[in-house]
Amino acid sequence: MTDSYCRVINYLRLSVTDRCNLRCIYCMPDRALDFIPHSEVLTYEEILRIVRLCIQLGIRKVRLTGGEPLVRKGFIGFINRLCRIEGLKEVSLTTNGVLLRGLAAYIRECGISRINVSLDSLRPERFFYITGRDYFARVWEGLEEAEGLGFSPIKINVVVMKGINDDEVLDFVNLALNTSYCVRFIEFMPLGQNGWTPERFVSIDEIYQLIQSKWDLIPIKSGPYDGPALRFRIGGTQGEIGLIGALSNPFCPRCNRLRLTSEGHLRGCLFSDQEVDLKTPLRQGKGDDYILRLIEFAIRNKPKDHGLLGYGPQGSLREMYSIGG
Ligand code: SAM
Ligand code: SF4
Repeated sequence: MTDSYCRVINYLRLSVTDRCNLRCIYCMPDRALDFIPHSEVLTYEEILRIVRLCIQLGIRKVRLTGGEPLVRKGFIGFINRLCRIEGLKEVSLTTNGVLLRGLAAYIRECGISRINVSLDSLRPERFFYITGRDYFARVWEGLEEAEGLGFSPIKINVVVMKGINDDEVLDFVNLALNTSYCVRFIEFMPLGQNGWTPERFVSIDEIYQLIQSKWDLIPIKSGPYDGPALRFRIGGTQGEIGLIGALSNPFCPRCNRLRLTSEGHLRGCLFSDQEVDLKTPLRQGKGDDYILRLIEFAIRNKPKDHGLLGYGPQGSLREMYSIGG
């Protein structure tokens, strides 16, 4: 189905939980967190029903996210069922990698081969500072296990923050050169009370200039539904990096996404708090036609753009962990 701006909406980002085993400084605010009560989180059965209905309206790709999706009980059984739904062309996963070691083989067996792993520092002590947990080694082992099992592509997501990890950009480029991982540098986005300030912001243009001073970046032509990253090959190598400029280079005109929060709200835009509640009618016993009309409504009312070109902290009231990144 297309939205009011002729964008084909075929991609659902699905948050299965708002809980997490890390406390990243840019994602979770520094206060007591109000997690969604378990009874308000969609059951796996409810999620599967919504996915089947979304497929009727043209959704073909699903990415599982959170919070940290791997912390939710029964996750492997759930993805096993999700991956078997007829009409879905691709299921992928975004994870912080902490629980990947040990679960990667099951995830692969279910049929997921595309994973994004978030890793904002290659230095264990800095990883601890950014995430509040001493789990660098676990993430690293999880990545190695995933590589050994043939996951492809494995993308590493790095949120670049001035004065925190921007001095590691070239180290991450080296990682892309020495492994099969595709490293993607992401602009720090203002969401809720996540500590975003203009002083902490590093644009993808700055990152590009820094890398280009050392390496020749050769643009890779992307397809119409390749996602928001500008992709580059590094010099004459097989290494690849991506630049995601949500603020400085918005992807809105090509945005093909819907988001489902863990409490069952559909969002047309990460930065807009306009949400359509699917859980209440589901639990009231409403039929498929009723829910389909609500999903259509969410698609039709998808905002034209995120309206953040002034780069202000006026984005969503909710932080990323509670929406589903
Ligand atoms: N817990 C998983 C993880 O970290 O990969 C999945 C959920 S997390 C919210 C999804 C992605 O959002 C991660 O790559 C994370 O780095 C990114 N993210 C969270 N807050 C962000 C922010 N304020 N700006 C940019 N990216 C952010
Ligand atoms: Fe957790 Fe991911 Fe948010 Fe970090 S970015 S706190 S790992 S949900």
